[in-house]
Parts: sequence; structure tokens; C-alpha cells
Amino acid sequence: MGHHHPGSVSPLRTLTAAVRHHRDRNVGPVKTVKLPRRKLDFFASVLQRFGELHAPVARNGHFVFQRVRRWSEARLEYTRTELPPKKYFLPPRETLFRFTPGKGYVPESEDLDRRIVLLGVHACDIYSLNILDLVFNGKYPDPYYQTRRRNIALIGVDCIPDQRCFCRSMRADTVEQGFDLFFYDIGDYYLTLVGTALGDDMVLAAGELFESVTPDDVAEYKRRSQERHQRFQLDVEIRDLPEIFEMEYGSEIWEELGAKCLSCGSCSMVCPTCYCYDVADETQLGSTAGRRVRTWDSCLFATHAAVAGGENFRHSRASRVKFRFYHKQRGFVAEYGRPSCVGCGRCSAVCPVGIDIIEVINRLRGVEYAETEHAATR
Ligand code: SF4
Ligand code: SF4
Repeated sequence: MGHHHPGSVSPLRTLTAAVRHHRDRNVGPVKTVKLPRRKLDFFASVLQRFGELHAPVARNGHFVFQRVRRWSEARLEYTRTELPPKKYFLPPRETLFRFTPGKGYVPESEDLDRRIVLLGVHACDIYSLNILDLVFNGKYPDPYYQTRRRNIALIGVDCIPDQRCFCRSMRADTVEQGFDLFFYDIGDYYLTLVGTALGDDMVLAAGELFESVTPDDVAEYKRRSQERHQRFQLDVEIRDLPEIFEMEYGSEIWEELGAKCLSCGSCSMVCPTCYCYDVADETQLGSTAGRRVRTWDSCLFATHAAVAGGENFRHSRASRVKFRFYHKQRGFVAEYGRPSCVGCGRCSAVCPVGIDIIEVINRLRGVEYAETEHAATR
């Protein structure tokens, strides 16, 4: 078992510093331009020069990020994708290296150098990558993650919150950096924030496509931004939440959730900030040559805290559900200064037994929770 967990890393000074360190293309002031909506198609073809274009598309009633061959496949007005963009940076399963006893090992670089442009990433998902940077650029730098991070450009797009979004409460409804470009819908145009030199290159490569911003555009941006802010239907208070978690360690809610939870791990698979993985060596039958593979793991799985000698530190489902909440809302805060949750709502949407993060937090806080009203939207 090789569950990755950050050790006692001294917190990186700020998220800002970490991101700037990582995105070495970031060279100074941000600028704002605008792209006519009808030219988006053209721009998408320009972007192909910077890498394979991937964007959200509709598939079987869900949205997924995947490669788009034709621009018309992409859906920029989506709610949330089933899996977050995390899958591009920390794939569900990847070979780290191949080994042959007596000969050594060769790093597996398949896919690592693939240049990709991810178009249409929401603010919360960009924020979640900034959070993953804290972990993978921290005490134990992860060259696989870092290489992908360098090779994958991010173009953000704004969104309208639905009944599950609580990114505003988690302070991840807007993002100041971590993107190369960010598009804000202002009607006939996308107001475009340039975040890095790479983003600037994309704008320059588009020649005449981009135009200057007028005071009216800025006014329209502000009007829509305010309107969006008011569209949030969910609110949780995160102030002193780690303290409340500390006090409620013995709460009966954990046994109650443990009795419901199926240990399926779906909540961590879909979470943009869950990063636990397992590492195992796979050998070919009749040979000692093989490869080292890393796969996503989940702290909800019964084996997650199992160690040699047959001990398991979190035998009960109740202790595992509790651990996930504690790590996100309390442990991560202690280590990195903010919760490792961006309020995307994916875990509540995917849980087969209806375990809802908002309900859990509000119940711990002693805040009334409108179960029937919320259940109706499930
Ligand atoms: S814990 Fe749930 S709401 Fe928070 S980031 Fe993960 S999936 Fe999204
Ligand atoms: S998705 Fe729900 S049932 Fe599955 S492990 Fe998470 S909390 Fe438990």
C-alpha cells in the first residue's frame, strides 16, 4: 500500500506563491481583451496549434471532458462534469515505470509530453488544481503531476451555479490565477482575462480575433457577476468549522452516516481535490519484469488504512466517512490554511445513498436543514 499523504510540510507561504512558482510562464500583469462569440470557432482552431483541444461534451446525460474534433461538440454552458479535470493531471491509472531485474528500470513517459488545451474549465475546478499544486509541488514533488501541469493549458469559462454549487461558501467561486485565459460571457462577446504569457501567445496567435474592451463591456461584466453571485442557492459557513469538527468528534452523526455509506468510494473519485493513490508492482506471469502502476485510491475503501500485520486503523465505515470529512475540512486547513473542498457538489450528486456534504456540515453546526426541499432536487 502506498497511500500518498503529505507529511508535516510547513505550509507554503500562500497559494499565490505556489502557483506562481509552478506557472513559470506567468510574467506580470494580466490584461483583458474580448472575443466575439461567433469567432469562438475560429479561435478553437487557432488553439489546436497549442495542443489537442479538450472540452466538456454531453455524454449519456452527463458532461465529460474529452477531446473534441469538431468545435460544435463542445458545450461551454454546462453545469459540472462527472469527473473533474483532475483526471488529466493525476490519471485514474498510470504506469510510472517499467522494470527488468538485472537491467534496471525505464521511466514511462507515454502521454506525459502530450500538449493539451483544456477549454471550458470552471473557476472551482481551476481552484482545485491550485490546491493540488500545494500537495504535488510540496515536500514530495511529483514529477508526473508537474510535467502534466506544465504541458496542459487551462482556459476557464464562467458558469451559473445550480442547486448543488456551494463554491461561493468555499471561496472558490472565482479564481485569480492558475489559468492561461479565462472567458466571461457578456452576451455577444467573451470578456477574456489573460493570466499567463502562454495565454497572451494564444491571443496574439489569433491575430485580429480579439478586440479591445470598452467601459460598456466592463459594466456588463459587473452586472452579470453580481447576478451570478445572487444565484447561489446554498450557503455554508466555514468560519470556525475546524473547531466545530474538533468538538463534534464523538457526534452520533458519524455512526449514522457509517450505517448508510456503502464504501463505494465514488465521492472521492469524483472529487477534484481528493488525491490519494495506491502504488503497486505488476509483473508478467512467469517473469520478474513488470511495471509500477499508480491508481486512484479512496479513504472510504476498507483497505485504505490497512497495514502490514493485519492491523486496520479505520475498520468501521463510520470511521472512514468521518476521516474523509475531517481530512478535508480540518486536517487540510491545519496544514495548508484552507479546506480541500471547493464546493463543486460532485460528491453529493454521485453518492448512491444520498450522503450530502451540506447536510453534514449544517447538522454539525446545528443549522436547520431543509431535507425535503433539498431531497426533491436530487
Ligand atoms: S468534497 Fe465534494 S463538494 Fe467538496 S470539492 Fe470534493 S466533490 Fe466537490
Ligand atoms: S459515495 Fe456515498 S456511499 Fe459511496 S463511499 Fe462516498 S459517502 Fe459512502
